[in-house]
Amino acid sequence: MPYSAFDHMPFESVQIGDALIRVVFGPGAFDLPSQRIVDFVRQSAHTVALYFGRFPAPAARLLVLNTTSPGRPIRSGTAFGYRGAAIKLTLAASVTATDLDRDWILVHEMSHLALPTLPRRHHWFEEGMASYVEPLARAQAGLLSKERVWADMVKGIPQGLPQTGDQGLDRTHTWGRTYWGGALFCLLADIEIRQVTDGHRGLQHALKAILGHGNIELESPIEPLLEIGDHATGTQVLASLYGRMKDRPYPVDLAKLWDRLGVRIASGGIEFDDTAPLAAFRVAMTRRLRVLTRNRVTS
Ligand SMILES: [Zn+2]
Repeated sequence: MPYSAFDHMPFESVQIGDALIRVVFGPGAFDLPSQRIVDFVRQSAHTVALYFGRFPAPAARLLVLNTTSPGRPIRSGTAFGYRGAAIKLTLAASVTATDLDRDWILVHEMSHLALPTLPRRHHWFEEGMASYVEPLARAQAGLLSKERVWADMVKGIPQGLPQTGDQGLDRTHTWGRTYWGGALFCLLADIEIRQVTDGHRGLQHALKAILGHGNIELESPIEPLLEIGDHATGTQVLASLYGRMKDRPYPVDLAKLWDRLGVRIASGGIEFDDTAPLAAFRVAMTRRLRVLTRNRVTS
């Protein structure tokens, strides 16, 4: 992140509640008016603020770069905590409004801002959290259907299961275990918290409390964060699940899990069974949120 250049360039402001995001455009023109891209930033920020109760950094920098090389329209994103919360986002010069409306990358990167920076071996929790939160946040904001959320989950999560030779999440640094293994940890934690608290608490409460302690700008070991999350839900789910998954494979019967959640893969796509034992938790995870009044989240 070229901070010194960034701070001298003209910027567009996106205000979300009390948070200010400074958006700077790198060289090169987009086919879309830059205001459309700023609107996309605002919508993504609002989505993340709804999930976490506020935008996860009071002051954030967002550098939007432009590329004309062939590839996907939302090319890449990276979140940084060092020297202040920042995101670098690269978009194709030809990016369309439809591409922006379908994007998941910026919500993923903004979700990263909500978690303190962890030691390298816990990278799975950073990526898993952002990967797990992104579709739920978009569903809660009304930007993604629940069918799509669960279809992607059923398709993606198996890639996070332990393979032969697995030594647990802290010691197996494959792509699958990092992104989807981390997301699996979050999904299991979310369900277990809801079970223990009779549906009154979920992972979202734990993550909000962890953000209350510090965002990506703070460096922290994982254990105190899990403790803060557990304290917020009145459970020991995060610490206990971490103990079970950190240094051994911990296989999960996904077919049984989808069945208990009432998620079925049918020929026409995903079907829901609302009589399944954990169906209410599944419904609650993607329930549409309205604008929060307490934190004056506005867009
Ligand atoms: Zn990520």
